[in-house]
Amino acid sequence: MVEKRATVTCPECARTEAFGKLGRARSFIETHRSETGHDATWELHRLAAGVERAGDDAGVCGRAECTATKSPLYLGDDASDRD
Ligand SMILES: [Zn+2]
Repeated sequence: MVEKRATVTCPECARTEAFGKLGRARSFIETHRSETGHDATWELHRLAAGVERAGDDAGVCGRAECTATKSPLYLGDDASDRD
């Protein structure tokens, strides 16, 4: 049994494909885009929320005011329980 890890959906042609490997899902999206110009999207079955959270927590500019210090991903040295 192959565990499906991602589902690719193309709203423009109502197509849905499930993939067991993220790399294949990604390449399907790229191939579909190059062949049809459609912008398919993928949905990860697992870790989706965590991945989004990690992306948010990582921040984009690195400035202190933009860093989610309450995130478990924050690697600053202020590990006290002040808050
Ligand atoms: Zn399509």
